[in-house]
Amino acid sequence: MRRITKQVQVGDVKIGGGAPIAVQSMNTTKTADVEATVTQISELAAAGCEITRLAVPDADAAKALAEICPKSVLPIVADIHFDYRLALTAINGGVNGLRINPGNLREDEGLAKIAKAARIRSIPIRVGVNSGSLDRQMIEEYGGINEEAMAHSAMNAARQLEDEGFFDICLSVKSSDPLLTIKSYRLLSDMTEYPLHLGVTEAGTLWEGTIRSAVGIGTLLAEGIGDTIRVSLTADPVEEVRAAYAILRALKLREQGPVLISCPTCGRTEVNLMTLVREVELRLSKIKTPLTVAVMGCVVNGPGEAREADIGLAGGKGQFVLFKKGCAVKKVSEEHAVEELFAEIRHMEAESRAEEQ
Ligand code: SF4
Repeated sequence: MRRITKQVQVGDVKIGGGAPIAVQSMNTTKTADVEATVTQISELAAAGCEITRLAVPDADAAKALAEICPKSVLPIVADIHFDYRLALTAINGGVNGLRINPGNLREDEGLAKIAKAARIRSIPIRVGVNSGSLDRQMIEEYGGINEEAMAHSAMNAARQLEDEGFFDICLSVKSSDPLLTIKSYRLLSDMTEYPLHLGVTEAGTLWEGTIRSAVGIGTLLAEGIGDTIRVSLTADPVEEVRAAYAILRALKLREQGPVLISCPTCGRTEVNLMTLVREVELRLSKIKTPLTVAVMGCVVNGPGEAREADIGLAGGKGQFVLFKKGCAVKKVSEEHAVEELFAEIRHMEAESRAEEQ
């Protein structure tokens, strides 16, 4: 059961209040480089990203937002640290949301000005607590960097915004430690009805970071906690979007693109399954239609999984049986298996488009 939260809206994307879990990412381009930033936003959108965040480290970046926003195909959240004036420039530039860090934006006067400007433009503010930049005062009060310090830091900043008459708030309490992340969000979720943006911060490389994010974000989502996610990877941000959808699909929270089921292979396998699966995965990454594709090595579990899936291949000796919607369609040679599989997938995509119209 998902926990019911209040709803905020970033551009045309609803967050919380039972809306689908929104997928976010963050540009790696220099925000002052308008062309590169707009190009990467389009790449993220093509991968299914729904909101992107842009770093605003200085006045040049803040000013560039006025040029970027009208050209962007995604709602933009400006990421602000240290200097509230950058937030005001970003708001004037037309951003759809702000992320502020209470650990480094403590000037009450600045927060009041940000709240006022955001209220006038009806844009939400995410209070983004990060274990690496947690407020010193909070660390001392709660005896270290722990879930209490994280959750209370977020709530204190939310209260400050509320004192300014601002309630369009989203919260996050990210740590690079997935366990601390889980404990912090659990506590925070018990303290508030504001929507929660989930993430394991600085999670690491594509491989390690995806696993750490899947554990941290996945555990919370499985408990019904969380309204929007960002997988944070030291990689092309398009990979963050792919990883985010893989997590959401695994929990049946969003259907976007295909799910690939493949067996680990074993001594029974008599086809070159690993090479074939890699090729299938690559080609499936360009497909948006939700469907389950099974590629299995042999007749033990192969036909069963392949039948359960929308479409599948079950290996034999140098050949495969192609299954579609639970029925064996035909035998195909190993050499032509991928081509035959994708010919059927193209048919299924066409059928699904025709049903939608
Ligand atoms: S499906 Fe067949 S080949 Fe694949 S792991 Fe199972 S027994 Fe081995």
